[in-house]
Amino acid sequence: MVCLINSTPAAGIYIHIPFCIKKCMYCDFYSITDISLQDAFINALCREIAATKSHLHFDSLYIGGGTPSVLSPSRIGRIIDWIFAQFSIDASAEITLEVNPGTITPESLKAYRERGVNRLNIGIQSFQDDLLKWLGRLHSADAAKDAVLWARAAGFDRIGMDMIYGIPGQYRQAWLADLLQAVDLAPEHLSCYMLTCEPGTPLDHMQQHREFEAMADGDVCDLFEITVTELFKHGYSLYEISNFARKDGSSPNDVNRSRHNQKYWTDTPYLGFGPAAHSYLSPVRYRNHRDIAAYIADINSGKLPIAEKEVLSTEQQLMEIVFLGLRTVEGISIQRFEEKSGRPFTSMFQDILTDKELTERFTLTLERCSLSLQGDDGSGCHGRSVCG
Ligand code: SF4
Repeated sequence: MVCLINSTPAAGIYIHIPFCIKKCMYCDFYSITDISLQDAFINALCREIAATKSHLHFDSLYIGGGTPSVLSPSRIGRIIDWIFAQFSIDASAEITLEVNPGTITPESLKAYRERGVNRLNIGIQSFQDDLLKWLGRLHSADAAKDAVLWARAAGFDRIGMDMIYGIPGQYRQAWLADLLQAVDLAPEHLSCYMLTCEPGTPLDHMQQHREFEAMADGDVCDLFEITVTELFKHGYSLYEISNFARKDGSSPNDVNRSRHNQKYWTDTPYLGFGPAAHSYLSPVRYRNHRDIAAYIADINSGKLPIAEKEVLSTEQQLMEIVFLGLRTVEGISIQRFEEKSGRPFTSMFQDILTDKELTERFTLTLERCSLSLQGDDGSGCHGRSVCG
């Protein structure tokens, strides 16, 4: 659903919960394993939210991290209630909570649901114990399956699962088995991320010391193609380079997409709260301190905990519209691009759009320009466009 106030699409709110029980070796999201600061953090978070005024209307709240399910349902409920008290939030807002299978119980999921969470994103990553161990995950394969079953039993009808491919030693059969196990659990949404070595992570350190052999690009590309075609066979369509939504009968095609995450790819405003959270109110983007002590200290001294702020130039905004738009199956909105640039889209990209080899890689209509992802089987996969 899109709500319009001053012709602006409804905005999103992101809350970053900076706690994890254990750090995974590939992760560069900000979090700490000392959870004794929970209440000090929530007090600071509520003060940050109260100090941020906005005339926007919001239709999504995403509580991510870190591991938000480290916080009890009553703490998560306090945050949700506070957001509703401070901002104009749609009555049917999508309220997502990220959970780790190692930090939940059937009872806690039921209580999150009662506190207002209506969508879960479960960090599964793999259904193979050896790979989970290699990644440094907290949970087992059985715990991952239980998490989905418990979520259904708790009344969640919007469940997303995060999976990772390209893990050294995983290869085709193992990834296929993971995908088939995932679809067997019938989540409404699947995010399949390629394992990447982020600078400064233990994984990066291991790679630099040649402690494992990274999967070859061609093999990773092969896994991407398997992902798109297999998930399509099982009723899931790709709508962003890493995201798939289950098609449900006659329901609109986008009913199971993540409403919140789509805002990041479509130049829609969002506010972020908590350490390391980003906000975007075109043309301004800002980021909070990536350090809980600095975050709390700023709030306690009456300041907003902003570490960095930039005003995007028109060129930067156009680049973002292009690169983020091309991640999605809908592609770039030509109207939005032309409103911002003041010039016809086709004149700005004439060189590309008249190059015969390159034009095969794009689909251009009057409204949109997208990567030619559509394969002959209708799966949305034309690997060369993405991986070639
Ligand atoms: S649980 Fe999630 S946020 Fe925490 S370290 Fe692992 S991947 Fe990162």
